[in-house]
Amino acid sequence: MIEALIETVRKRFDGMGDPRKGKNISHSFGDVCMAGYSVFHLQSPSFLAHQERLQKKFSSHNGATLFGFKEIPSDNQIRNVLDQVDPEDLKGLFEDLHAKVDLSSFKAEEGLMVALDGVYFFSSEKISCQCCLKRDHDGKVRHYHAMLVPALIHPEQKCALPMAPEFIQNADGTEKQDCELNSAKRWCASQKEWLSQNKVTLLGDDLFSRGPIVTQLMSYPNVRFIFVAKETSHSYLYQWIRGYEPVDIESYKTTETEGQKKRIYTYKVYHKVPLNGDLKSPEVTYFEMEVVDGKGKRIYFNTFVTNHQVTAKNIHKIAGMGRNRWRIENEAFNILKTKGYNLQHNFGHGKKHLSNVLACFNLLAFLIHHLSEVLCETYRKLRACYGARVRFFQDISFALSFQIFPSWDTFLLFILDISQPRKSSN
Ligand SMILES: [Zn+2]
Repeated sequence: MIEALIETVRKRFDGMGDPRKGKNISHSFGDVCMAGYSVFHLQSPSFLAHQERLQKKFSSHNGATLFGFKEIPSDNQIRNVLDQVDPEDLKGLFEDLHAKVDLSSFKAEEGLMVALDGVYFFSSEKISCQCCLKRDHDGKVRHYHAMLVPALIHPEQKCALPMAPEFIQNADGTEKQDCELNSAKRWCASQKEWLSQNKVTLLGDDLFSRGPIVTQLMSYPNVRFIFVAKETSHSYLYQWIRGYEPVDIESYKTTETEGQKKRIYTYKVYHKVPLNGDLKSPEVTYFEMEVVDGKGKRIYFNTFVTNHQVTAKNIHKIAGMGRNRWRIENEAFNILKTKGYNLQHNFGHGKKHLSNVLACFNLLAFLIHHLSEVLCETYRKLRACYGARVRFFQDISFALSFQIFPSWDTFLLFILDISQPRKSSN
């Protein structure tokens, strides 16, 4: 199964067309891309150096058997080639990979849920390009790269499924700074039909509960949003709801118990609220959600705006969807940043696209690992043997540094065998 996922990546690389010009081309474009991707797939910066050593000794290497690239390009060759790859060409790969799984498991009664969030992945005071975002930091200009990552989430799914990122970057030669909100508007416009067809509910933090994107989404049929709305950024809306009579505020309370654990959910719903003070402000539903434990201690409170038709019957469900937004933080970005993928490490900048392409490869590796867990039983068993991804990546990299494995199956079974606790013979 892992072979099929790797093959999907290779196919897309081969179909992209070689951006290099000239005759001195020693490695195929697909081989160079696969070699570059393999480092992220294994989260092992030294993988290619070890394969060089194996190649010299045994005339074969794991890059050929597991990733399908025959010759091993140098680090410089990989960086030079990937710098010329337009990351836009990689976006289709996310769809190719999503097509490998049954997305209906992400579908709730109300449709699909997509959480939006931004992340930066390169920053420097010295290195920059025309697309770099700029920020003043203690009198010094800091350059950075960032992307908006939409991810499919579902309360019963263990992991968020990242979709193709929208890069937050300045257009060539312009001084105007791009931002997360603009990138979200672009992404929504580019996905308009898909959002409508799949009855998508978009989830996001306070940054997204702003007039332009809310107006844009409300003009799309069957598209909903649940965005956090804080008082600090919505003073007009909060003034407005203070004028509501108690009779106009819908309240709802429910209790959930699980064993000894008790959770009391209280909701207050305000209908037909202007999002801001503009004459053309969209009208939304605002609601507050409070969760207290059995002793009355508050364990969660948040405020949201939505265009879902909220009633006493569905508020518990709708609010649960809004609260799901944290899942993308916990299940995608925290793992990408700190639990094995080092997304914010400066892997390289290049002159054109390198930084964005490497970030894309890292996100792809995260997606493929998740799909491997869904589709491959051996991989699932293997991941269950390891809690932390860091140790998992260390162990598989170590094994690949001294032995050549003819296939993913033999490799995964080998690691599984040495990872499982030994049964005592006594
Ligand atoms: Zn740059």
